[in-house]
This record gives sequence, C-alpha cells and structure tokens, in this order.
Amino acid sequence: MLMTPGPTAVPEPVRDAMSRELINPDVDPRFREIYDRLTDRLATVYGVDPDADGDAARDVVALGGEGILGLEAAVASLVEPGTEVLCLSNGLYGEGFADFVESYGGEATLVAADHDEPLPLDALDEALAAEGSDFDLVTMVHCETPTGTLNDVGAALDRIEAADGELLTVVDAVSSLGGVAVPTDRIDVCLGASQKCFSAPPGLATAAVSDRAWAAMEARDPHSLYANFLPFRDVSDGFPYTHLTTEVVALDAALGLLLDEGLDAVRERHEAAATRCRERGAALGLETVPGPERSSPTVTAFEVPGRAEALQETLREEHDVILATGLGDGAEDILRVGHMGHNARVDRVEETMDALAAVL
Ligand SMILES: *Cc1c(COP(=O)(O)O)cnc(C)c1O
Repeated sequence: MLMTPGPTAVPEPVRDAMSRELINPDVDPRFREIYDRLTDRLATVYGVDPDADGDAARDVVALGGEGILGLEAAVASLVEPGTEVLCLSNGLYGEGFADFVESYGGEATLVAADHDEPLPLDALDEALAAEGSDFDLVTMVHCETPTGTLNDVGAALDRIEAADGELLTVVDAVSSLGGVAVPTDRIDVCLGASQKCFSAPPGLATAAVSDRAWAAMEARDPHSLYANFLPFRDVSDGFPYTHLTTEVVALDAALGLLLDEGLDAVRERHEAAATRCRERGAALGLETVPGPERSSPTVTAFEVPGRAEALQETLREEHDVILATGLGDGAEDILRVGHMGHNARVDRVEETMDALAAVL
C-alpha cells in the first residue's frame, strides 16, 4: 500500500485508461480533444478562468515532465541575468528556488525561517522595504512536503501586494493543489504536478499563468527550449514536441474522477484523513513537525528521532505499507504519511496507522 506524499496510489480507472491503445498526439485529432478536456478540467481544479476579464485571466498548461520541470520552467521563463528574486522559505523546496534562480543568472535573496517555523512574514516586509531593493519576482511554497507544513500563502500575498502591486509571484502548490484550496487568482504562476493530489503517475507538470506573467516571459524571450511554458500558451496549431500521450490520458481520467466527486467533498476527505492520522499518531505519542495548527491536510510528518529508516523498512517488509522518511538534514528524524489524492481516505489511514502501531 503506497502511502507516500507523492507519488500517490493511482486508482484503477486511471490505470485502465492508461492501458488503452496508444494514439499519436501529433496526428490523431482525438488527442487534441483529450488535451482540451484536460486543460478545462485543470482550470476547474485550479479555480481559474482562461476567459476572465483583464487581470483575472489565467491560462493552464500541462508540460511533459516531472513536477520539478514546472519549477525550473517558471524560473527559466521569468529570470535572466540580473533579475532580482526574493525567495521566501521555510523548507527545502522554498530554498531550492534560490538555486534555480542562480543557475539562470538571477540574483536570489533568500528570506528564510527554520523548517519548523512559519513563513517569516516580518522579514519579508523588511526585505521588500529595504533601501536599494528592487525585486521583480517572489517565489514561495504552499505545502512544504518534507515537513508536512501548509504555509499561509494568502498572508504572504497580502504583504507582497501591499508593498508592490507589480511584483510577480510564483507559488509551488505541487503537494496541495487538488486537496486544499489555493488562492490561485492572486498568483501569477501556480505550479502543480500529476503525481500528488491528482493521483495520476509522475509525468506532467501543470501551471496556471496570468496574462502579466505571459507578458514578462515574452519580454524575456526564454533561452530554455524545454523548460519553457510559452510554446504551450497556444497549441491550436499543434504541440511543440510529442506530448506524453499516456500521462495526458491518465491525468485527464484522474481529474475526471476528482471533479465527479466534487472539489468540496475532496477537500473534506483530505481534512478527515489528516485529522484521523494525527489522532492515531497522538495516541502513539507521536508529534508532528509543525504542530497541529500548520500541518497540511495532505501529508503528516511525524517526529521519530533517529528511527525513520528502520521504521520505513519494517513497515515495508512486514506490513507492505510504504511511507516516506524526511528529506535533507533531518531525514532520519521524520516519518511521513501521505494522505493525498486517492489516499486521503480514513480507511487507508487506519490501515497505515495499525501497521505503524504494530511496528512501534
Ligand atoms: C513533489 C514535489 C515537487 C515535485 O518534485 P519531486 O521531484 O517529486 O520532489 C515539487 N514541490 C513540492 C512541494 C513537492 O512536494
């Protein structure tokens, strides 16, 4: 039983869809229909309208590549030598944005808190107001998956909008989108991926892009050919290269299931699974890294100092339950249960926590 915070278990109707006869994405008109339906469904899940007036419009795109491609494409499309980027962070993915920015020649200013702390909003205000600062872009992460932390992106956006209405924002919502509400209408580039709350296999990076972000990308004329959203802005004359047909079919089917259930019902299912996971953990004496207030409905990171790998291995060998350890420095101290997408079900959480209880 795969209960990691991505990739998540892929439900049977999605696997069935993937096993159908392969169609050629460049010559078969059926592929265009599937891609169009996929982007319609994605727009609904993102809560955006491509045809909205003015600043409210967001186009959605799905690129062939793992979620990281979306993070890199956002930076590659918006950063050139000298671009000043404020990277707001309280975790590994937040910090990782600074590495992307520097690898494309940008000037990254990392405004960071410890991994068990909230986003440093006062330091954000100070950095935005600092004399001589002239940021073009701010990056941040909604759910820091390695610590199971859901960040208050709305509060950060309030500060950014108050400081400078022209600032572009890039938000990694890879492990929250589809399980938790995301303020996508206030974000210029909002990133998602197929293998988290959508419960499709890894293989597609998704984004909702504002008109002013498109304009900034066009002005910069990105140098990367593959890590680039622009060729996907208008695909009415064809795709820039062969699309990952099976991944597109899978994500379309997965989003169909999600929307049949309804976004509110899906979010409630995530809340219920997360609450149960933490109740069971508390009964075992386990604490979560960010505490109850800031834990994400999509993933729980339990503190298990020095024991994560041993617990992971025993769970896998004796109970056939697959969990994740932490990432980076504290990897051995954190055991993570992914209750996202198809796995956000109380019965699956009960089975997982029964196994964890037995192993502990
Ligand atoms: C999973 C994830 C990604 C995608 O990249 P991986 O290669 O799976 O790490 C990006 N951002 C976040 C926050 C994620 O959880």
